[in-house]
Parts: sequence; C-alpha cells; structure tokens
Amino acid sequence: MIRAVPHVAAMAPYPLADVTGFGTTSLAQNESAFPTSPAALSAGREALERAPLYPDPDWCELRAAIAGVHGLDPARVLCGAGSMELIGSLIRAFAGPGDQVLGTEFGYLFVASAAAQARATHVRATEVDLTVSADRVLEAVTNKTRLVFVCNPGNPTGTRVPNAELIRLRENLPADLLLVIDQAYGEFDGDDPSAIFDLVERGDTVVLRTFSKAYGLAGARVGWGLFPEPIGGEVRKLLNPNNVTGVSQAMAAAAIRDQAHMQAVVARTALIRDRFADDLRAAGLGVPKSHTNFVLIRFADPATARAADAALRAAGILMRGMGGYGLPECLRATVGPEEVIDRALAVLRGDRLEA
Ligand SMILES: *Cc1c(COP(=O)(O)O)cnc(C)c1O
Repeated sequence: MIRAVPHVAAMAPYPLADVTGFGTTSLAQNESAFPTSPAALSAGREALERAPLYPDPDWCELRAAIAGVHGLDPARVLCGAGSMELIGSLIRAFAGPGDQVLGTEFGYLFVASAAAQARATHVRATEVDLTVSADRVLEAVTNKTRLVFVCNPGNPTGTRVPNAELIRLRENLPADLLLVIDQAYGEFDGDDPSAIFDLVERGDTVVLRTFSKAYGLAGARVGWGLFPEPIGGEVRKLLNPNNVTGVSQAMAAAAIRDQAHMQAVVARTALIRDRFADDLRAAGLGVPKSHTNFVLIRFADPATARAADAALRAAGILMRGMGGYGLPECLRATVGPEEVIDRALAVLRGDRLEA
C-alpha cells in the first residue's frame, strides 16, 4: 500500500475538540455564547440563492467592510477559510525544512501542526506568569528563525501584553523575520488596535483576526489578516481559489458592519466572564485575568482537574482539557450563557446538583 511522505507519516493528527453529545453544552471551543447578528443571518439567507455561482474570489465586499470598520487599506486585507488557513499558508510560504517557527510556551497549538506540514521546526519561548514575554521571545530567536507567532490576547491563557510591548518586540526582532500577531480575541481586548495594525506598514508584520469568536460565526469559517504587500502576495499563492463561500462572505460582511451587535456581545460576555472568574477565585481556584471570551481554570493538580472535568461532563457540560498545552492541572472554559455558567460553577464548588 502507498505510504504518506515521511514528514506526514510522522505527524500526529491535530487534536480536535470532543464531539458534543446529545444534551451536552460545549464550553470547549470559545464559540460565542450569543446569537449571530440578525443582519448577518439575513445576508446569509439571501446569499444562499446564489449557491449555483462561485463566490467572489477576491472577497471585494467583505474586504471593503473590514477596511471601512478598521480604517484600513482593503488591498492589504486577505481572507481565509478561518484564520487557520492564513496561518497555514503563512508558514508554508516562509518556512521550510531546517527553518524554525517560534511560538510561545502556551501559544496556539495549530501553529505547531502547520509548521510540521511545512517540515519546519516549531520551537517555543517560555512565558512568565502565563503571559507572553517580549524578552523571552527575543532570547529564543536563532539564525534559523523565520517566523514568530504571538497570540494577543493569548489562548488558552486569556492574558495579554500591552501593545507597547509588542511594538518593542517588533523593533528588536531582526528585520528579515516575520512577526505574526494573532488577534483572534482582539475584539474582547479594550486596547485601541490601531497601533498594532500600524506595525504592518513596516513590511515585516502580519496581524490576523477572525469572525469565529466575537462575531459569532465560527461555523462560517472566515478569518482575515492585514498583510504587507509582498508578504500578502506570496501567501495568496497558497490560498485555495474561492476559499470563502459566498454565504460566509455575505454573513461576515454584514456582521462586521453591525458593530453595535458585536459590542453588545463583547460587553455581556465580559460581565459573565468577570463574575465567573471572581466566583471561581472565591471557591479557591486559580484564574488569570482574562481579556477574551474564556477563562483558564487552575486546579490543585492534574488529578483534581480530571475529576472536575468528569463531574462537569456528568452534568452535561464540556470544558477543554489543557494537557496538550502542558497545563494538565487546568481546564479552559468558554464564557457561555449565564445559566450554563451558573451550573458549571455549582459543579465546581461541589454544590449539590438538582436531579
Ligand atoms: C479561535 C482561534 C483562531 C481562529 O481560528 P479560525 O480558523 O478563524 O476559526 C485563531 N487563533 C487562535 C489563537 C484562536 O483561539
């Protein structure tokens, strides 16, 4: 029988989230707890009528909507089937055998997978107090480093570094090394993003965003990024033509134009999140301050985390185990609807549950 090429045969499959069973509520994938913008839903329904046609391969309406909201040049925006597609294409474009892709200790696991696909080596800079450290990243750079991935705010930690630190990081990295700032949770982060978008003008920095979290469109698979001109041109060669469906483009364009809906989602998520985090801390658990739509919950040890996970599952609630991130004593919980969070809290406090 035919065998896969050696680097694929050697790869572990990307760890997918558990499939949610009947009657189970997933807090495992950081999806929005709230319904998608009604404007996005009706734009999607209308776009369904155009299903016989290929979508706009150049994402013109979507790019214009993104650029309009953020004050960007639409020519610098590329769209992907989720930002994962953009991460994969960036790595394939700029790293190959013998090259290093540098992430951080608790950085996004998919970056390691994408590096393996490109036969590049994934290395990690340590973090300090579950937070990205610009100095540790700078210390980890070698003459083989081609790309540096920093997720801010971070997943699965929820922590953030100030924009000024990312600017300092960029200024101290070698100019021929590409910095990729993954802002999948950027909408939840109060800081003005323009200083980060401005870094792209330097020609050596890419900023990635997604519709999967604050915009409530994880199922539509739309991500976008701001790319310097020659970098974007190379990445575009590796994207599948017609990568984002017409329905998804229409939904995403309408969703980003409905800033009021997104801001309401972010505000309500933050209220539930901060109360949940306070209550967890009051129950003796460790919770770093989150700037996202999830919290990282630290138990006394891995066995206690596993027992909590089992009790939550028995109560119909699925969180995400963090063993794959080297944090086996932690569970990550998406901020879900208030009623689900209250039930999760009751389980974690060991309250008696009603049958
Ligand atoms: C959710 C997430 C993404 C977004 O992935 P999509 O492919 O756009 O759904 C990217 N990076 C991080 C760190 C994430 O948590």
